[in-house]
Amino acid sequence: DELDILAMPWFGMDIGGSLCKLVYFEPKDTTKDEVDSEVETLRNIRRYLTKNSAYGKTGHRDTHLQMNDVHIRGRRGTLHFIRFPSSEMVNFLALAKSKGMANLVTTVCATGGGAFKFEEDFRREVNMKLEKFDEFDSLLKGLQFADAQNPSECYYWANPTDDTTCAKVPYDFSNPYPFLIVNIGSGVSVLAVYSATDYKRISGTSLGGGTFLGLCCLLTGCNTFEDAIQLAAEGDNTNVDKLVRDIYGGDYERFGLPGDLVASSFGQMNCRERRSKVSRQDLARATLVTITNNIGSIARMCATQEKIDRVVFIGNFLRVNPIAMKLLAYAMDYWSKGTMKALFLEHEGYFGAIGCLLQFHD
Ligand code: ADP
Repeated sequence: DELDILAMPWFGMDIGGSLCKLVYFEPKDTTKDEVDSEVETLRNIRRYLTKNSAYGKTGHRDTHLQMNDVHIRGRRGTLHFIRFPSSEMVNFLALAKSKGMANLVTTVCATGGGAFKFEEDFRREVNMKLEKFDEFDSLLKGLQFADAQNPSECYYWANPTDDTTCAKVPYDFSNPYPFLIVNIGSGVSVLAVYSATDYKRISGTSLGGGTFLGLCCLLTGCNTFEDAIQLAAEGDNTNVDKLVRDIYGGDYERFGLPGDLVASSFGQMNCRERRSKVSRQDLARATLVTITNNIGSIARMCATQEKIDRVVFIGNFLRVNPIAMKLLAYAMDYWSKGTMKALFLEHEGYFGAIGCLLQFHD
């Protein structure tokens, strides 16, 4: 049906505590008639989104994540992945308005807390109705869709502790159940997934990506996630943490605790002399290691309790963050004595938004 393309909900939106994720479906199978009858505003918006990779000061399109040749509801097209800070929503709406969005009668599929918080702003500023979906339903639908579309979506880290041999290795996730999802956003949620539709949220922690970034800004004076990760990459947490060997002089052999294991995160920082020697980089690294290991430990307990051995870590905390991914990979393997596996997905922070796009008129 020709009109479908014009009435299509080309957006899926996940408005989180830190970042707004926007997935845009660009149809590629349009007929000449469709193109001719396309509303000009719509065409302009499509051009604006697909010709640029930066929008305003804080909007970014993750071009490396673009998915070509995807099929949604009988249409073929390209999925584009865009993000901006949720704190910029007012500016985003102003931009959308300036592009003529308010003149299109549109419903946008949205999930995340911001779908509730900003609902009235969308209606007032750009005449948009938000069709709200549950964030975990969306997350799961998006994850399954992305994995089915993209053969290299799922991977694990081989040799995570060895810088010269460590590598991303594709993982065949076509037979996934049961598995655990650990979604590391501003906070953390843990889901146990038993089938495509049967899942439950079993745990969570408020010590998440938002905590990492917040503490890092406080401790180092940095201002962005990218800077925090860069600092952490140059730092050494053993100048900040108290290790087993700082307490035992070596391994704690009786219980198999290696000397280089962190016994107390930030445990050296009570000492004035130690504090005077520590660098911003060390503090950033220690913050990253503290938050990551705590999440790894919760993930392991959840997996044990649910008798599940595959744990998929997602969320934008893992964006440009190989240090955290490798730490999780190592910790899951080491503490489970090789019985549990940490898995990762390329579209790590976008599954809620993808799932939202797919759910329209389901
Ligand atoms: P939410 O839905 O809660 O916003 P996300 O999955 O989008 O969760 O992850 C948010 C977290 O991702 C932040 O707390 C931060 O640790 C990390 N992050 C990665 N990139 C950025 C960025 N450009 N700006 C802010 N936080 C970022």
